[in-house]
Amino acid sequence: MTIAPEKTELDNQPYVRVDRAERDVFALGVMVAAIILFVGTGSSVLTRIARAYLFGEANGDALLGNALILNIALIIFGWRRYAELSREIGERRKAEHTAQRLAHTDALTGCLNRRSLDAAIADLIEGAAQSDSEVVLMMIDLDKFKRSNDLHGHQVGDDVLIETVRRIRLELPERSIIARLGGDEFTCAMVVDAGKVATVENLVARINVEIARPIFSHGATVEVTASIGLAQGGSTADTTALVLAQDLIHRADLAMYQAKKAGRNRFCWFEPSMEKELRFRSDLEKSIREGIPRGEFVPFYEKQVDIESGELTGFEMLARWNSPTYGLVSPDIFIPVAEDIGLISDLSEMLIRQALLDAREWNPRLTLSVNISPLQLRDPWFAQKVLRLLVEARFPPSRLDIEITESCLHENIGVVRSLITSLRNQGIRISLDDFGTGYSSLAQLRTLPFDRIKIDRSFVSTLGQSRDSATIIEAISSLGKGMDLPITAEGIENREVLDELRKFGTFQGQGFLYGQPENADDVRRGLAQSNLLADGVPVIPSANPAAETLPAAANG
Ligand code: C2E
Ligand code: MG
Ligand code: MG
Repeated sequence: MTIAPEKTELDNQPYVRVDRAERDVFALGVMVAAIILFVGTGSSVLTRIARAYLFGEANGDALLGNALILNIALIIFGWRRYAELSREIGERRKAEHTAQRLAHTDALTGCLNRRSLDAAIADLIEGAAQSDSEVVLMMIDLDKFKRSNDLHGHQVGDDVLIETVRRIRLELPERSIIARLGGDEFTCAMVVDAGKVATVENLVARINVEIARPIFSHGATVEVTASIGLAQGGSTADTTALVLAQDLIHRADLAMYQAKKAGRNRFCWFEPSMEKELRFRSDLEKSIREGIPRGEFVPFYEKQVDIESGELTGFEMLARWNSPTYGLVSPDIFIPVAEDIGLISDLSEMLIRQALLDAREWNPRLTLSVNISPLQLRDPWFAQKVLRLLVEARFPPSRLDIEITESCLHENIGVVRSLITSLRNQGIRISLDDFGTGYSSLAQLRTLPFDRIKIDRSFVSTLGQSRDSATIIEAISSLGKGMDLPITAEGIENREVLDELRKFGTFQGQGFLYGQPENADDVRRGLAQSNLLADGVPVIPSANPAAETLPAAANG
């Protein structure tokens, strides 16, 4: 089924009306003059001609007869010219209307486009100001539309957009406008009686429900949801309707991001605190952009230990941001921002390059684990990029372990599988990080060739306090045994947790019990103490000799 747009938004817009007053005055004038002449002279001339014909009277005035014929010719000429010009003007007007439509509407959905939105909202605001009502603006963004587009193709994507607009239009009250801002983002503005703004919430909730209903197109069933931001009001007393319109768009946009952040498939009203958050966010983005080339992002390392023997087996690289403004910043803060602004690949490559150089100085039996963002797995060149980094650093692939989180498994599973396979073919190992938090199914686990599972720290650190955590760890442990997959328990914070954990089997472990993540120099000093530096690597003098040995807990 191909879904077609029903009508265009332009049909409702007063400000794009074409002037219909244009007419061919000359042709019309000639015709009218000829008709007047005909009426004035025709009666007497025609009478004489009729008499001459019927009674054989002499027609005394041949000149008048000729003038009459000329007069009729003029009427015919005038009429034909007028008809021709009217047709030409009609065609020109049609072409103008098409050009207007293309300039002001979105070709796919028939909605207004970005260019005409501000003026259309300003019109509504001016109208509302005169009728004791106000304008409510809705910013609608489809959730994960890109994923559905990648999965089902653009034809289906187009159908989803057209159908979504149709469903929204059905819910909107009269005197509303709808515009497509680009991709999967829409704006609706509606006029609401003052004091009845609360009723908007029912309408928006219905729109949320309508959009979430499945859409059938070209054999696919697509389910998308929407995050909606709402903003209302503002007075034209202090400013122009156009400025107010732009302000409404901005505020509804902020509210929409809040709806996304709060879990998508919902709506959210604008609140002034969102403005502050946005300012902080844009400062953060700017600082991250500037910080990458300045080398402010550095790898830290957390020990990974065999909990039975206490032997150090390797380190997990954890990114840190040494920001001159914010101090030492956790990756939980800056990784999502770097992902959003499209810098995660650059940042990650830079950190891994540095980590490989650092790890070359360690004993060759120690491994290096690195974390990868789900976005990097979408890069078709990812495996090649990793290989190039390994070759540049002359680092054996068998010492590298790539950790991917469960959320990666919600991406296109076929792509993830082929990527994992190609990385493994190069000798790199792959671990499934934060297991237990992302609802990945057993079936998925079976079809993806992981080398290791890492139990999320939220379960491990609460061992001994939470019966549920113990049950989950027991289940994961027997799953690992059944699938012959080694397991790492992260978040071992103290001796009690370690003792509890041991009851469930053999694990590799990491956590604050074995030490906090450290920078490269501190790791190097610690390794020197334990005689675990690679041959020929010079030892750096100690900064804090007391903190250099592995804690006793690491030795069992
Ligand atoms: P993760 O990979 O699960 O890393 C383990 C996190 O647990 C680290 O937090 C670590 O400092 C913390 N941790 C270790 N032991 C304990 C413990 O005993 N108790 C508690 N409560 N926490 C412990 P961190 O360094 O803040 O990293 C957070 C997450 O950021 C990481 O989770 C990882 O998913 C992500 N991340 C870190 N570095 C990178 C990177 O370079 N690239 C990407 N894409 N993600 C990264
Ligand atoms: Mg990790
Ligand atoms: Mg983890």
